Amino acid sequence: MIPAAFDYVRAESVDHAVSALAEHGDEAKVMAGGQSLLPLMRLRLATPEVVVDVGRLADLRGVREDGDSLVIGALTTHHEVMNNELVRRHARLLAEVTATVADPAVRHRGTFGGSLAHADPAGDLPAAALALGAELVAQGPNGRRSIPAREFFVDYLETALSPDELLVEVRVPKLGSGWGFRYEKLHRVAQAWAIVGVAAAVRLDDGSIAEARIGLTNMGRTPLRAEAVEQALSGIDASSDAAVAQAADRAAEGTTPPSDLSGQADYRHHLARVLTRRAVRHAAGLS
Ligand SMILES: Cc1cc2nc3c(=O)[nH]c(=O)nc-3n(C[C@H](O)[C@H](O)[C@H](O)COP(=O)(O)OP(=O)(O)OC[C@H]3O[C@@H](n4cnc5c(N)ncnc54)[C@H](O)[C@@H]3O)c2cc1C
Repeated sequence: MIPAAFDYVRAESVDHAVSALAEHGDEAKVMAGGQSLLPLMRLRLATPEVVVDVGRLADLRGVREDGDSLVIGALTTHHEVMNNELVRRHARLLAEVTATVADPAVRHRGTFGGSLAHADPAGDLPAAALALGAELVAQGPNGRRSIPAREFFVDYLETALSPDELLVEVRVPKLGSGWGFRYEKLHRVAQAWAIVGVAAAVRLDDGSIAEARIGLTNMGRTPLRAEAVEQALSGIDASSDAAVAQAADRAAEGTTPPSDLSGQADYRHHLARVLTRRAVRHAAGLS
């Protein structure tokens, strides 16, 4: 289909983008890589009157260090994230997760910030942002504010951003020695969306799990943290498969996954448990 008619603003700076958003309010949509927005517009599931194209704002691209955090510009493409040396060194879960997103063509255009701002519960990066405890930095007419990932995903395709705010960067805490990571994604064919995904960050201390953070993909209306599992994993012997499995059995608690052509909700419950067990074991260095 052909999108409905819209006006087009090419943002020349972050301030320009924010003032265009403030002027047009709910009628405007930001476009970054366009990999999610344009398909929705072509299907007329999104019909913005104004598209504010931020794709050429070079200062929102790239990765830098800032003390204990990595700062990833919202417009950094998936391709750049997964190949970035700082990301690989300090947040390798992100590199691992991003490598499972779509195909090279989409990864060259789609952006890290776009994936988070789109807030698709089936998207892979939100679960990783949750597991890593990322902070999302938004800029609006009154300046910048920081939103913890746990508060960012509000409902289906809905975030804590207001219509006049632009996501400008994401701050990811460096998780250093003692931490292990894994993303387990079940999809029907390579490069497809997750039926279910589990992002795990696990810190070991003397053979026990000192801390576990588990993000779930496609297990509800928003990306989720599997808090019951995190609590159940705390303090257990990481080498005990039975103990990990028992904790992972709680992965579906409180979740409301969809039923669709790729699987029924009860199948997704089962997958969440199995993939959590695998992800935790791998993150703990056991497989
Ligand atoms: C064929 C195909 C397969 C895909 N497979 C996967 C997959 O397996 N896993 C996966 O996770 N994703 C997948 N995607 C989605 C892909 O990751 C997109 O790149 C991503 O979802 C959106 O990034 P974008 O930069 O293209 O955002 P856009 O499409 O430009 O924008 C998406 C939404 O976010 C908003 N937005 C974007 N940037 C900002 C910003 N800086 N501030 C405020 N709002 C903003 C837009 O207004 C829009 O609502 C796939 C896409 C395609 C086309």
